Amino acid sequence: MMEQGGDLSEQDQPAVAALRGRILLHTRTLKAAALADRTSDGTILCGAGALGDVKDALRYLGTLPVLADPAHYEEKFAGVSASFYVKPRSDTGRLLTLPPDMDRPGQDQLAAGVTAALTPTRYFAAGDDMAVSAATRRMQQFDASQVIFTVPLAAEWLQSDRDVRFLIGALNKVPHLKALAFGSAGDPLPDRGAARRLRSMIDNINDVALIRTGLAGLDAYARGAAFVSIGMQKSCRAFRPPDAAGQPDANRSGRPKSYVLHPDLMQYFRTDALAHLYGFTTPPLCGCTVCNGQSLTRFSDDPDDVREAEQHNLATWLPWAEELQEASPDDRRYLWRDRCYTAIQAHEHAGLQWRSRRDPGPPAGLSLWATQED
Ligand SMILES: [Zn+2]
Repeated sequence: MMEQGGDLSEQDQPAVAALRGRILLHTRTLKAAALADRTSDGTILCGAGALGDVKDALRYLGTLPVLADPAHYEEKFAGVSASFYVKPRSDTGRLLTLPPDMDRPGQDQLAAGVTAALTPTRYFAAGDDMAVSAATRRMQQFDASQVIFTVPLAAEWLQSDRDVRFLIGALNKVPHLKALAFGSAGDPLPDRGAARRLRSMIDNINDVALIRTGLAGLDAYARGAAFVSIGMQKSCRAFRPPDAAGQPDANRSGRPKSYVLHPDLMQYFRTDALAHLYGFTTPPLCGCTVCNGQSLTRFSDDPDDVREAEQHNLATWLPWAEELQEASPDDRRYLWRDRCYTAIQAHEHAGLQWRSRRDPGPPAGLSLWATQED
């Protein structure tokens, strides 16, 4: 079993110790100047431009952790012979392999000043044991004090007890911090079984972290993950797998839409779906620091509203995160379970008010977190 997160471990190297107990903000488009107002724990900058934003983020965040997630796993599959993305060098007009000392995954991140490097791991298709094993072998040559093993998994890995047992065994052979991320065109936790298996991974993998997620990050944190990151934008709450093209909602370059975290139900809704559910009844007013008593259904899909909804979402879950951080490691899981249980009860009341066939019901993950202790 892993040790509980939140405590500085004496054996940790500085970079890794700086991350322990953190609930980071995983963000794609937030300006560095705004970061300082939004996180007291640090950030993971996400996407192709992440590396270029590190310097700015460091300037505004001072000593807080700053990581860069170039998210190559959104484009590239891992294989037995290719675990990490390696940038081709084309300064002579031809593609050349980098010299050995520059060919180490994450060196460019460390050079940019990140707290620790996230390996530019390629995407692990469901059940591809060979690709995972090859990557775990390659990890052995990297410095565990500076490099975190990013583990971008197809969410379908969570559909099989066998697959999860394999991952636990394989990842425990890696001494590094391991940052799990899940790719899915839809909800990576579509059923209670998937949520339970994710918990099993968090409970049984040493030095595990969960990144680029939604509220599952808080569940992992409550159960002792070394650190977690929670997505600011929808595209940072789960990633789109490289083979997702053609699936519904697959247009990555499409205009972002507003998603609203319902503070009582602990559930994200598309803004128009939420307005429809409340219909002609009175929608709830939100007391978060962004909304200041305005209606929860006021957001449109205009860019300003999309950003304001993201800020509302953050202002909604941040107090939940802080509550967990302030509690003792032993109390966290009970605090979290009780909070989730209250949300499930709130959903029953909301369902009575909505009386709508479009009521999606509470998310499967939330219902597991509310009722299952172990
Ligand atoms: Zn609000």
